[in-house]
This record gives sequence, structure tokens and C-alpha cells, in this order.
Amino acid sequence: MQVFGLLGNPVSHSLSPPMHEAAYEERGIDARYVTFEPDTEDIEDAIVGASALGIQGLNVTIPFKQDVLALVDPDDLAARIGAVNTVDFSGRKPTGHNTDAAGVRRAFAHHDVALDGRAVVVGAGGAGRAAAFALADRGMDVVIANRTVERAHDLADEVDGASGHGLDALEALVPDADVLVNATSVGMESDETPVPPETLHADLAVLDAVYTPIETRLLREAAATGATTIDGGWMLLYQGVAAFERWTGRDAPVDAMNEALRARI
Ligand code: NAP
Repeated sequence: MQVFGLLGNPVSHSLSPPMHEAAYEERGIDARYVTFEPDTEDIEDAIVGASALGIQGLNVTIPFKQDVLALVDPDDLAARIGAVNTVDFSGRKPTGHNTDAAGVRRAFAHHDVALDGRAVVVGAGGAGRAAAFALADRGMDVVIANRTVERAHDLADEVDGASGHGLDALEALVPDADVLVNATSVGMESDETPVPPETLHADLAVLDAVYTPIETRLLREAAATGATTIDGGWMLLYQGVAAFERWTGRDAPVDAMNEALRARI
């Protein structure tokens, strides 16, 4: 039996186990997906131990995504984002990857959104970094708006052609945007939005990384203008799809994974 899992703290409410186990069942793979909650100071032992025990792959979430970067051999994208959410133990040294970026790109692709023109990324934390690099790597003109404006400037300095702003710039930036990503936690478990509703428009495609609730205020207000809306479940699904494909070398059963996820969101 193969073992995969998720390293984070807390992880008890994670939707990844049912999503990945649905994929193993659909593909006839004898595997389990297990959650692990090491103490912060034990993260290095956890990676070394997982490798020694023959665990095939781990996803990584808060608060370990940055720490794990230094403990594995990161690929170029994970190194630029500065965070690892997927570890592959199949080589001599564990390798680190960031499938949140693939999650962003493939969520848009699933909804037939062309990634060209201007993208506004709201947020400069882990999800914001993944979105900014993912969209800039596709050739989009990326602008980043963040509550702490220095973080937006710092990220913009690292992303090709990007500019950084405070949230007050959204009023001027969003009307000209083709794509908008909310990569802040605003809207999570609360009916709030970081984006002024009057700036939203029908030519916009909006991805909200937040998936609790699945329909956020931002998505509701965007849909009312005729914009294309993409909930955070799609990003979550496709980061898992990309991890499954990396670990198993097989096409992921996207529909089965999505069904398992949506049943629990
Ligand atoms: P993070 O690294 O802690 O970053 C949080 C971001 O939210 C920062 O930009 C922060 O701004 C901003 N923020 C927090 N509270 C705010 C407020 N009251 N007003 C304005 N901005 C605020 O977190 P993260 O890992 O990037 O996650 C962000 C969100 O994305 C979470 O809801 C998470 O669940 C979601 N996410 C979803 C997926 C998915 O697959 N769907 C994947 C990853 C993350 P400051 O810099 O000013 O603090």
C-alpha cells in the first residue's frame, strides 16, 4: 500500500483526504491519504521521518509551507513563490513543488478563461504569491493590491513587470482588469469583500481563493454584474489534481475528485 498525506497544523478539517482517496478508488490505486499534525519545532524530523518510512508524497499547509522549502529540493516555481505545498519523495532527495499556482491556472482553464491582458491579484500572502507568479508566467500584466502596501511592493519587485498597490487602488485597477483573484482571507466565514462592488464588470473573470463559504460576497456581487465567477473549490481541486498527477504519473480523475470535494464543502 502507498501512503500519501498532508502536513499542517491544524489539519483535522481538511478536505484533501476524501478528495485524494476518491482518486485512488477511481484509478484502482492501493493507497491511503493521512493527515499529520507535527509541532512546529518538529517539522524537519517530520520530513526526514516521512522519507525514511517510505511515504510517497505529502501536501503541506499552514504553518509549514515556507519551512519545508528549506528542507527539500524546490523546483524553480516553488523557489520563486517561496513556499512548498507538495513534496515528492520518489527521488533520492525529496523535491518541493507549489501546486497552488497550477490550481489558479487550471481553475481559470476549466472555466475557459483566457489568461491574457491584465490581472489584479488582491493579497500578497501565500495564495497571492502563487497567483501572481502563475499569472505572470502566462504573460499576464499583473498588478498586486494588498492591505499592507509594503508587502505588495516587495512581491511586485519579484514578479516580472508587476506593480504593487494598497487596497485603495482597487477602484482604479479593477475596471480595466480582465482577471481578478481574491487571495486574501477576507470573506472567509464572514460576509465581507475586499473589492468595491461598483468596480466589478461583465468582462471580468473572478477567482476567489476563499472556499468557506463556497459562495462569497465577492462572487455574489461579481455574478450580479455578469462576470465569470470561479469559487475557491476549483483552486483547491486543481492543486490536488496537480499533486496526484505528480505523485502517480497518471491522469487524475477530476470529476471523481470534484464530486468528493463538493460533497463536503
Ligand atoms: P496568508 O499568507 O496569511 O495571507 C493572508 C492575506 O490576506 C494577506 O495578503 C493579508 O494582508 C490579507 N488579509 C488578511 N486579513 C485582511 C483584512 N482584514 N483586510 C484585508 N486583507 C487582509 O494566507 P494565504 O495562505 O495566502 O491564504 C489566503 C486565503 O486563500 C485564505 O482564505 C485561504 O484559505 C485561501 N487559500 C485557498 C486555497 C485554495 O486552494 N482554494 C489555497 C491557498 C489559500 P496583509 O499582508 O496586509 O496581512
